[in-house]
Amino acid sequence: MFKNKCCMYLSRRIELEKIFRKTLSSHNGWESIMYPIKLVLFDLDDTLLHFADYWENSVKDAFRNHFFTSEMNSNDLFDVFSNVEQFLVKKLDSKQISFDEYRTKRFLYSMDQMGKTTDVETAINFEMFYQSISKKHMKPNVMINKIIKDLSNYYQIGVLTNGSKGWQNDKLEAIGLDGIIPKEYVFISEVIGYEKPSPEIYHHVLSMTSLPPEQVLVVGDSWTNDVAAPIQEGLKAIWLNKKNYQVPQEPRPLAVITEIEELRAILLSHIDDSPLD
Ligand SMILES: [Mg+2]
Repeated sequence: MFKNKCCMYLSRRIELEKIFRKTLSSHNGWESIMYPIKLVLFDLDDTLLHFADYWENSVKDAFRNHFFTSEMNSNDLFDVFSNVEQFLVKKLDSKQISFDEYRTKRFLYSMDQMGKTTDVETAINFEMFYQSISKKHMKPNVMINKIIKDLSNYYQIGVLTNGSKGWQNDKLEAIGLDGIIPKEYVFISEVIGYEKPSPEIYHHVLSMTSLPPEQVLVVGDSWTNDVAAPIQEGLKAIWLNKKNYQVPQEPRPLAVITEIEELRAILLSHIDDSPLD
């Protein structure tokens, strides 16, 4: 009897070690996943909804149909716009510009490079037009939605995202997750008044959910926003490292994954097994 239990324990331990083969923090990471996680908080952009899946079609569609750009070559304009966008994303990530500035400047700088004179009002108008068009190009990801639904049987699922209320909610609706993730667990920076990686945004989530930080797991593609900052506030984190960037030494997330589907092995496999005792 004892031997059987011992064997079960050992096989379970081997199984768990296999599951966490990607866990960076060897012994401590193995222990820490055992702590009960109640809430899994997903980042939205480039985690649940991939920018590359809708960006090019949406931007070109918007250029072809917006009053200011419809006469211009949408392919040329897209190349310019993409370069400007990459330049501004770095400024946004390093907090040199706000989200609003990022959205208007990418249009203004692009038009400037195309030799066209325009203004902030037109840039805002284009941005709104682009957003409305993008919704058409955002499609539910069957595999992601399935795992979110499966996870929701065992964990509270939420979203923690930087952006505006309307736009982020539109995205959730477009990808079919608005019906799976309850509204009260959708945390959007514009509504909260703080953006990731400000500590206040994670504190807000803890306060609204009445959960201790170690019971909240953040999953996202940004090392700064979804791993380093939440861990600093005591939350747990899993990094979605789709582009296989070099993994920083510290802090140590529970795991590093390249696909959301890998969460199934990490968060669900041990639930289906019988308890150890
Ligand atoms: Mg993201």
